[in-house]
Amino acid sequence: MSGSYWLDADPAPSFPSRGSAGRVDVAIVGAGVTGCAAALRLAEAGLRVRVHEARRVAGGASGRNGGFALRGGAMRYDLARESYGVDAARELWRWTERGLDRFAELGGDTVRRVGSLRLAADDAEGEGIRLEYDALREDGFAAEWIERPLDPFRGAILHPDDAAFEPARFTRRLAVAAAEAGAEIVEGSRVDYLAELEAERVLVATDGLGGGLLSELDAAVRSMRNQVLVTEPFAEKRFPRPHYARHGHAYWQQLPNGRVVLGGFRDADPETEATADEAGNPVVEAALEQFLRETLGVDAPVAQRWRGVFGSTVDMLPLVGELRPGVWVSAGYSGHGNVMGVACGEAVANALLDRDVPDVLQLFDPRRLR
Ligand SMILES: Cc1cc2nc3c(=O)[nH]c(=O)nc-3n(C[C@H](O)[C@H](O)[C@H](O)COP(=O)(O)OP(=O)(O)OC[C@H]3O[C@@H](n4cnc5c(N)ncnc54)[C@H](O)[C@@H]3O)c2cc1C
Repeated sequence: MSGSYWLDADPAPSFPSRGSAGRVDVAIVGAGVTGCAAALRLAEAGLRVRVHEARRVAGGASGRNGGFALRGGAMRYDLARESYGVDAARELWRWTERGLDRFAELGGDTVRRVGSLRLAADDAEGEGIRLEYDALREDGFAAEWIERPLDPFRGAILHPDDAAFEPARFTRRLAVAAAEAGAEIVEGSRVDYLAELEAERVLVATDGLGGGLLSELDAAVRSMRNQVLVTEPFAEKRFPRPHYARHGHAYWQQLPNGRVVLGGFRDADPETEATADEAGNPVVEAALEQFLRETLGVDAPVAQRWRGVFGSTVDMLPLVGELRPGVWVSAGYSGHGNVMGVACGEAVANALLDRDVPDVLQLFDPRRLR
């Protein structure tokens, strides 16, 4: 399995490879942003927590994504209003805005609040995001319309408070904070059966990678592979903030060191990319490189490629809550799980602690997709 630019950029903190003996209050499966955020909250509340991670901390999507921290859900806001109801969508977006502030607070210098640019690749997409912009403004959200963004895009929404972040460094920081608060983080600890865990309650925080643990999750969450590349430093500073277009099928940003990170193009081979296998796909890699050269005009050599997997649901909302007695889940963010993963990790921890449960959890009821 390859790493990612983010995973390889900094030394990983070390955590034990064996758990201590004894029963814990909550066992968590998965040390990505969700599992680490939940562990931190639960440990701070004084619970005994053990996190089992099959690989290393941030080894899943949390150390492999494009480094975008965005407000909102996975669906366009105007469509979310139609699907979830106006009040529910507005409350969800507001909740993620608070989640983004909390994300920045937790992330320290791993997060840069540079805003994000949602671009239209053609006129039809331009009409769609204009509807999204109008709906956002109507409901009082900060957003700016840019009629002529960079060439060849046809309009864009600037989300001024969004952020770029360093995924692996962010997640490791969260894991260290959780360990300092008393949580046990155990790396190289694959859980094959939940029944093997010595815990009063279990939280499954595996997003698109938890296949085989819970039949209900397997049925409701589809694994989606995403390919990413990073270039050598590119001299021109052209993409200082997260950019995304083609309905989220192309996303890129330029790092302060000049490197361009670009991901997406799952739609070049959609059937093959619906998998939890992190192997490369030459069809998608070629489409990414063509976009890098011809559309973005970046000629810097590709330095590294990697893949990550996220979990998708049919209504593009995660499943967060108690799925079976004593078995809780938080997964299925549908490609929008950075801010949402942290917010849901904390929310599900609150639910486990029976305190301050946000109303939006009703939307995420894991039993809705049975
Ligand atoms: C390429 C890519 C681009 C993305 N872009 C964005 C974006 O622009 N914006 C956004 O918000 N989100 C984005 N996402 C989604 C986001 O990264 C994820 O939704 C989020 O990181 C999920 O975090 P998590 O902690 O829930 O899951 P993960 O980070 O996937 O962590 C799950 C962990 O569980 C472990 N695990 C699985 N099964 C077991 C087991 N049986 N036993 C023990 N451990 C196990 C895995 O090893 C893994 O480390 C992207 C994802 C990818 C892959």
